[in-house]
Amino acid sequence: MNYVSAGQYYKETFGTKVYRLALDAGCTCPTRDGTLGFGGCIFCSGSGSGEFAANRDLSVREQLREAKAKVEAKCKGGKYIAYFQNFTNTYGDEEVLSGKYEDAISDPEVVGLSIATRPDCLSERMYEILADLAGRTHLYIELGLQTIHEESAKWMRRGYDLPVFEEAVRRLASLPGNLYVIVHVILDFPCETKKQMIETISYCAHLPIHGIKIANLNVLKGTDLAGEYEKNPFRLMERQEYCDLLAEAVEKLRPDIVIYRMTGDGAKRDLIAPLWVADKRMTRNTIDAYFREHDVVQGRYY
Ligand code: SF4
Repeated sequence: MNYVSAGQYYKETFGTKVYRLALDAGCTCPTRDGTLGFGGCIFCSGSGSGEFAANRDLSVREQLREAKAKVEAKCKGGKYIAYFQNFTNTYGDEEVLSGKYEDAISDPEVVGLSIATRPDCLSERMYEILADLAGRTHLYIELGLQTIHEESAKWMRRGYDLPVFEEAVRRLASLPGNLYVIVHVILDFPCETKKQMIETISYCAHLPIHGIKIANLNVLKGTDLAGEYEKNPFRLMERQEYCDLLAEAVEKLRPDIVIYRMTGDGAKRDLIAPLWVADKRMTRNTIDAYFREHDVVQGRYY
């Protein structure tokens, strides 16, 4: 069984290493500002799931400069993808946001733009802006699905129904140019069985998506999930158990789907559970060893 890693995809697409620079477009979310609710998704931190993003008070060009400075020692001749990561980056004044996207791609070292958002926050004007961008750069639209199960979606306070997601994926994927849809999925919701988790992955595999980010549920300080966990500590998977499930999940995906992430990646200082996630190297080694043993190998991107 083959899978494609992000590093491999970047190498084959851009001919070099590519680093993602996390930026902040200054947005919020409809589940935070009172439009659909307050408090956001149950697991989401105050920084809108973007612990590593730059300072939103800076201009996009300044954010890029700062973010590059942090990775330049590692980057050496590599290229960058500007990644509007935290909160809902198509939620706001479309022309203002468009200006920020343009600022990001105007940097000659930036070879692509990644925009994390929600499928219910794509206006007609935003579709036009995205179609135009996709004609000029590699454009990655990252949609937070997390689960296909409505009860779980209610539990996590997602705020939109599955058909809204599916329609957005199909419409985005049909736009001309270099537009790629990446879906975010979370495994190990305490209200789901493993079978349900795999159903979410199988559903994604049948959609016209380019990539997926799979995370195990992380309980982070300051989130409403942390409050629930404190009151009623629910069971989370151990590392090995998660690796088993991950291998099963990868098996369900099409071999051309790029896997951008395999575990949660909240800031270590905020992590409450499961603590094994903090040891990224050990987790990566366990996943690699397990995959080798079960003939899950990196394939080519084509
Ligand atoms: S939509 Fe994303 S950023 Fe907004 S609350 Fe939910 S997880 Fe956080």
